[in-house]
Amino acid sequence: GISWTASMLPRLYPEQSVLYKPVVLLFTVCRPGFFKASPHSPSCSKCPPHSYTLDEASTSCLCEEHYFRRESDPPTMACTRPPSAPRSAISNVNETSVFLEWIPPADTGGRKDVSYYIACKKCNSHSGLCEACGGHVRYLPQQTGLKNTSVMMVDLLAHTNYTFEIEAVNGVSDQNPGARQFVSVNVTTNQAAPSPVSSVKKGKITKNSISLSWQEPDRPNGIILEYEIKYFEKDQETSYTIIKSKETMITADGLKPGSAYVFQIRARTAAGYGGFSRRFEFETSPVSASSDQSQIPIIVVSVTVGVILLAVVIGFLLSGSCCDHGCGWASSLRAVAYPSLTWRCGYSKAKQDPEEEKMHFHNGHIKLPGVRTYIDPHTYEDPNQAVHEFAKEIEASCITIERVIGAGEFGEVCSGRLKLQGKREFPVAIKTLKVGYTEKQRRDFLGEASIMGQFDHPNIIHLEGVVTKSKPVMIVTEYMENGSLDTFLKKNDGQFTVIQLVGMLRGIASGMKYLSDMGYVHRDLAARNILINSNLVCKVSDFGLSRVLEDDPEAAYTTRGGKIPIRWTAPEAIAFRKFTSASDVWSYGIVMWEVMSYGERPYWEMTNQDVIKAVEEGYRLPSPMDCPAALYQLMLDCWQKDRNSRPKFDEIVSMLDKLIRNPSSLKTLVNASSRVSNLLVEHSPVGSGAYRSVGEWLEAIKMGRYTEIFMENGYSSMDAVAQVTLE
Ligand code: AMP
Repeated sequence: GISWTASMLPRLYPEQSVLYKPVVLLFTVCRPGFFKASPHSPSCSKCPPHSYTLDEASTSCLCEEHYFRRESDPPTMACTRPPSAPRSAISNVNETSVFLEWIPPADTGGRKDVSYYIACKKCNSHSGLCEACGGHVRYLPQQTGLKNTSVMMVDLLAHTNYTFEIEAVNGVSDQNPGARQFVSVNVTTNQAAPSPVSSVKKGKITKNSISLSWQEPDRPNGIILEYEIKYFEKDQETSYTIIKSKETMITADGLKPGSAYVFQIRARTAAGYGGFSRRFEFETSPVSASSDQSQIPIIVVSVTVGVILLAVVIGFLLSGSCCDHGCGWASSLRAVAYPSLTWRCGYSKAKQDPEEEKMHFHNGHIKLPGVRTYIDPHTYEDPNQAVHEFAKEIEASCITIERVIGAGEFGEVCSGRLKLQGKREFPVAIKTLKVGYTEKQRRDFLGEASIMGQFDHPNIIHLEGVVTKSKPVMIVTEYMENGSLDTFLKKNDGQFTVIQLVGMLRGIASGMKYLSDMGYVHRDLAARNILINSNLVCKVSDFGLSRVLEDDPEAAYTTRGGKIPIRWTAPEAIAFRKFTSASDVWSYGIVMWEVMSYGERPYWEMTNQDVIKAVEEGYRLPSPMDCPAALYQLMLDCWQKDRNSRPKFDEIVSMLDKLIRNPSSLKTLVNASSRVSNLLVEHSPVGSGAYRSVGEWLEAIKMGRYTEIFMENGYSSMDAVAQVTLE
């Protein structure tokens, strides 16, 4: 029923060519620049924006270069392109979480379906190399398809440089072969405390004790140094006990039978304590009625003993006798004493594992003092950051190098002068990093400064600063005029009084006490690693980062692959790498021996294997010549096989102080006849004359069957036995 007139056509459909009026109306052909999606459609459409046709009769338009069309886009829709980069991104770092916010891109590419994608890269600030972050990072609400212009990343690593790229994407981004459009944000995360311990399990429960074990926090954010376990009887929160433990298990004892106790645990890393776990409640087993009766007299006795003990301990603490020489937190305990406390300078020890410390609190009267602890530079992702946290950057122009004084593992050691602003010029030692170093060498070299920079003690070598911004890279320390102690003693054989030698030893012990209080295990304590100044003050030095002792020529490879200075190292550290302050005490005993023998080589020319074997069999170095008996006894104490029986450094300092205050105590020398020159002595039994006969001694060491052989060979007295060589 439609009647077309020619005059209508140009007005209504100017793009159509009219050939045969009625037919052509149905089969019109679109001109270039127009398209008709369906042949049945009566009209041609102009190509939408950013599209074109070059041919006639096109059913669709092609997108211009850099523009795309999604399959689901209608042909009438303009071609679109990926959005430009988001703008004005800002970040907010909170420990190991990062919050990012940005504003939408200036150009959405002509689409409404813009969303955002976050790419995370972990970067080394020194080399600039980056790698993908890996799966440990959590994105809130998500990493891809973000509709809002903000996101939060959590569970990042502490002390790490990250680059976040915020990319805007839309429906055609995946067709774009060109460069991604993103804005990037660089952040450095902070140190973070560990996350709370979440799983605690009860172990053995008796009427007086509860054993617990737990799992390391999900996010330790560093190396866990220890756990703190707080517990109290349910509803008695004002009176609680704190146990510290390096293990993930403890036994709380001395509890009341049939009572509920509440436990909370938290972990500590170099960054400090994490939050306490939720409360876990466990109950001791009930006590039976009959045993209850029988316990009354015992309880009466224990209460009496307890009161006496308490009085003795309070008296002891108030007299200050145990704390003359600075025993850390023991002095803060004077207000309230508790018999089962473990402290550093006293002799009273709690029953529990020596690696645990226990303190009791009532109404918060006792507080743990803030003990400064050593931070392992390894906890820093970027060692560069660690070095600048602990060491001052010095401008190379402030340093004058004078002469070479030694050779270090990484380069020459020089003496020189340092002139800091507002200070007088003073002598320094300068360790240099040789040219052509690898990244690892630079890291290890500066690692020593990251460690040294954390210490501040008159018997620890003092770090002035580092030069890292220019070459050569340098570590600048105080200058020790007399160099290393072993060489100095060898050069001055027999030149010092015993008091001077004990003074040197006291200094080293004091430095070691400081290090052990900081939680730092040296692992390579030896006279060659002690420096001595013109006032004969000894200072501990050589703080390698890797602590595998690669730089020590004395270090030898053990069967387990580690490199260990055998002659200075405790047997448990050689055998199963149990390096602790107690193994440092063993090494300290060897240093005592080196000092008292003016730099003699421990175990002389014996091979490392023979040393290991002899020590394992109980032989010990004999007393050096003219050595006060008290000092040799202290050496033997340091060489106790059981590491828990060795004295602690604070006890050694106290002991040496006593000897210095009372020089006549140094007059008794080790008896020349019992001092076995060039031979090892069997520890204590043979040396101390504890056995009356050879037979008795052999029985005691489960070798009674050899008595006859000893007699036949003329070893009929203990004196003769003391002459037996290792061979
Ligand atoms: P090191 O690499 O620390 O073993 O140093 C090598 C040598 O340089 C030492 O054995 C010392 O003789 C000397 N040395 C290192 N530091 C100092 C210093 N602070 N003062 C004097 N001499 C030093």
